[in-house]
Amino acid sequence: KLYNQVQDLKGSIRVYCRVRPFFPGQSNHLSAVENIDDGTLTVNIPSKNGKGRRSFNFNKIFGPSATQAEVFLDMQPLVRSVLDGYNVCIFAYGQTGSGKTYTMTGPKEITEKSQGVNYRALSDLFLIADQRKDTFQYDVSVQMIEIYNEQVRDLLVTDGTNKRYPLPIRSSSQKGLSVPDASLVPVSSTIDVIELMNLGQRNRAVGATALNDRSSRSHSCLTVHVQGRDLTTGAILRGCMHLVDLAGSERVDKSEATGDRLKEAQHINKSLSALGDVIASLAQKNSHVPYRNSKLTQLLQDSLGGQAKTLMFVHISPESDAIGETISTLKFAERVA
Ligand code: ADP
Ligand code: MG
Repeated sequence: KLYNQVQDLKGSIRVYCRVRPFFPGQSNHLSAVENIDDGTLTVNIPSKNGKGRRSFNFNKIFGPSATQAEVFLDMQPLVRSVLDGYNVCIFAYGQTGSGKTYTMTGPKEITEKSQGVNYRALSDLFLIADQRKDTFQYDVSVQMIEIYNEQVRDLLVTDGTNKRYPLPIRSSSQKGLSVPDASLVPVSSTIDVIELMNLGQRNRAVGATALNDRSSRSHSCLTVHVQGRDLTTGAILRGCMHLVDLAGSERVDKSEATGDRLKEAQHINKSLSALGDVIASLAQKNSHVPYRNSKLTQLLQDSLGGQAKTLMFVHISPESDAIGETISTLKFAERVA
């Protein structure tokens, strides 16, 4: 029943929003969020003459008290459609600290309750594949890569050497893989997935120091490849799902950033605006879609547009002093809706 609901949803691009709760001890902080009502988020904009307000519409908004399970429930039909052969992209967008990694992966210490979308999505796929085992035989494998300064790195290497860095992106004629050289690991249980994600996290942390947290300045992408064989007809269907934790969207002050930091910021700006351009032109059904302008959009070309389903999940921080970044995040969302 659930699978059909996906087709009923208007269009193939939907936009969700999640507001992070205040941190413990921040209870007296001014909130930028005035109101959340169904699909409408209203924010306070401080101005010289008192308070201004602006409202933004979404397909779905999660307030600060939404649980990981509630969030996943609204993504489940999309996730399940990959078993029917659809291509799916889920993006977590927002400034650093707004809760992107929390949504996709979870907090630092992950419990069953706090598991993010990545774990829940894979567990759910295994569950449904098992329910369908009399009619379909499914094979699931995953890749995990990072894009840093427009270079693609395999996060599932076991020897830590990254001999093949940076990895080339190919047009997907090759077995449907846009990064054929990245490790492709078959998985058949949630335990397999947890181990792989841990490996990916460890590889991602390599070279990062506390002050220099690279994870907020690179895009990480977990790609799930699904192949299903209809046991009666022998027909094969393929679906693929990209779960993307984007680099922080905050603007870096050009007068302050220099050297590596400036270069990183320029790469991030370029790739996030390229992503916005692609999704906006798909939403407007333009005939030309500018996929070539960044590694990220090249990588996802076959999973954005056409029959593919896209979820842009924007994250905002609740603090009033983050309002500048919050507004620019909300404008990004408005543009791609
Ligand atoms: P980002 O990945 O966007 O930089 P994080 O996911 O790391 O942000 O979130 C920043 C901090 O806020 C982390 O300590 C995270 O655990 C916490 N956090 C984010 N979202 C939530 C939430 N919905 N509930 C509780 N804690 C959250
Ligand atoms: Mg993060």
